Amino acid sequence: MLKFLGRGSAFHSQNNCGFFVKDGELVLMDCPMSAFHKIKYLGFDKLVNGVTKGVTVFVTHTHSDHVGGIGMMIHYCYYLLHLPVKVITANEETAENVRYLLSVLEGCCDEGYSLLTVQQAKKEYPWIVGAVATVHTQQLEGRCFGWVIEPEGTRIVFTGDTTTLEPFIPYLEKGTYLYTDASAHDCVVHMHIKELEAVIPRLRDKGVKVYFMHLDDEQMLGEAARKAGVQLAPLYI
Ligand SMILES: [Zn+2]
Ligand SMILES: [Zn+2]
Repeated sequence: MLKFLGRGSAFHSQNNCGFFVKDGELVLMDCPMSAFHKIKYLGFDKLVNGVTKGVTVFVTHTHSDHVGGIGMMIHYCYYLLHLPVKVITANEETAENVRYLLSVLEGCCDEGYSLLTVQQAKKEYPWIVGAVATVHTQQLEGRCFGWVIEPEGTRIVFTGDTTTLEPFIPYLEKGTYLYTDASAHDCVVHMHIKELEAVIPRLRDKGVKVYFMHLDDEQMLGEAARKAGVQLAPLYI
């Protein structure tokens, strides 16, 4: 299942980033700059327990606490580690947005990375179930997604930033690991804890394992998780 290099919301110093290792590749759910620095500090080899074959990043949306470290990751992997980086987006539109960010603004060279839509990525990674469109901010309407993946056979649902769990409900089966945005403050663009508390008993009855991530108030949400019988996203370190 996922470990986290950070589980904080946008204004925290350790932004949200889940990861796992699959066939020697370090697979990241978003890549904030804080995650890049943590990976560099820890060392790639330590994270993957041996030889690193490459880095793959799933993009949920283009807020900087989610994509701010991708360009640096590509530069670092290209110039220093000589490792390929793959960036996976939900569709052509988000791919174009990310291409502009990486090629035009970050100045990443074309050889440094490959940009794949979910359809293209599925050919290489059959364990990708799909991207799920969700609702987050008005400015990024239609360009915010969660991910459903099954890298080891067990289903993982990663909401990204979201105001609702509704689009994810059809994917939540018995045994699913759900990593959901959780917000202590009722800020309209995130998943408020009160709404989560209302739906958690139904999810637990269904056998879904719930983890809170992208936390704006770790103490309050930790307490809420304990009362609801669920967990905070597990930090790697
Ligand atoms: Zn965010
Ligand atoms: Zn966001």
